[in-house]
Amino acid sequence: MSKGPTIEFLGGVREIGGNKIVVSEGDDRVLFDFGPSFSPRYEAFFYNFLQPRSTSPVKDLLEFDLIPREPGLYSEEALVGSDLPPEEPRFGAIFVSHAHYDHAGYLGYVDPRIPVHVGRGTRRLLEAIEESGYRGYGAHDWRIAHDGVPVRVGALEVVPLPVDHSIPWAYGFLVRTPNGTVAYTGDFRRHGPRAGLTDRFVELVAAERPDALIIEGTRAGPDARRNLSEAGVRAGVDRLLEKTPDLAVASAYPRDIDRLSTLHQAAVRAGRDLVVSMKTAHLLTRIQGVPGGPDPLPVPGSSPNLRVYARAKKRYYAWEEPFLDDGVDATWVRRHGAKCLLSLDLMHFAELIDLRPPSNSPYIHSMSEPFSEDDVDDRVLHNWLEHFGLGYHQMHASGHCSYPELAEVIRTVAPKTVYPIHTEHPEAFHGLPSEVVPPEKGVPYPLRAR
Ligand SMILES: [Zn+2]
Repeated sequence: MSKGPTIEFLGGVREIGGNKIVVSEGDDRVLFDFGPSFSPRYEAFFYNFLQPRSTSPVKDLLEFDLIPREPGLYSEEALVGSDLPPEEPRFGAIFVSHAHYDHAGYLGYVDPRIPVHVGRGTRRLLEAIEESGYRGYGAHDWRIAHDGVPVRVGALEVVPLPVDHSIPWAYGFLVRTPNGTVAYTGDFRRHGPRAGLTDRFVELVAAERPDALIIEGTRAGPDARRNLSEAGVRAGVDRLLEKTPDLAVASAYPRDIDRLSTLHQAAVRAGRDLVVSMKTAHLLTRIQGVPGGPDPLPVPGSSPNLRVYARAKKRYYAWEEPFLDDGVDATWVRRHGAKCLLSLDLMHFAELIDLRPPSNSPYIHSMSEPFSEDDVDDRVLHNWLEHFGLGYHQMHASGHCSYPELAEVIRTVAPKTVYPIHTEHPEAFHGLPSEVVPPEKGVPYPLRAR
């Protein structure tokens, strides 16, 4: 006899990122998301180039309890050297909510016999990241998830529902079991260009009257950092470009495609060219034509006011070659500074030595403010800005709902039980009509009917 549905959290518990949620009904088990967390615990052992060995990744991560000790999940290859024996898969499917590393980064260790469901755009993003980087997501039985189309996994039915997040093609999910329904938000926000998707998600989930809601809480608890909407970022960049006579430089997260689109539109309005890295150009080229992304998507070679910065290198990869002929270099950007908005990652700041922006040129930091005061990247960043006399401007829209927005979602959905995850402050959820249960890692919670 079936024991009834359970929810178990193997990651994302009292930490940001690393969600690993198992919904089970008897032997039918589905895993939602599978990546490393951004917790200090991970970085206490692995950071920069000190990473798990590719010959024994699961063994190395298990050593520090950084990956779940879960039979029937990992590939034989990933298990080499570990004390977990390879066995038949014990999961019917994995659903990945979106392409961020903390939700997809461990896929490369998964048994290839377990089907992996992702949105079409997410699949393209993961392919592009594999082609132009050193991260691998493994060979899988990939299945493309479609908005609102249910997927049956044994006794469970999973419905992917799109939400707004700082990467397009993000999903939340409804999981229908024979004995109740669970909803999972994934990572989501209500102030981005696809805010309407989140509104619709909340509506659909509320109409389903789920018994449990698994909700991300990145911004629950102390949240002193300034946050703008995507439209607010656009307005800020517009204002800054209006009063800038020469080069403007900006840094955004490499896969924040909405931000690239925002910067591009601001550049168009200011009569400038957005100049992007070859890596960004490759990513934009790979996702063009997939519905659900920014519209219009800046595409190298076809969008106006868009150029590719082909920085000098001794050797170019095959994926960089298409951008070399029409690419611009430091000399070109220096000459045309007044007509450029240059997107430049911190790791390529050495280009500033050739670019030599006039002092007081603006630098737009279009990413989160640092979490701590002794952030190394932040210190180095400011040393470079000071050296070149660039002015720092913080302009960012978070990928996550604020606490009042989360509380409103919970009141609207009104589940019996709320499990806050992807947060360091699950206890910050308070004053709500539902029972809030900060989950413990590895404890199966029976689904309780509302
Ligand atoms: Zn995310």
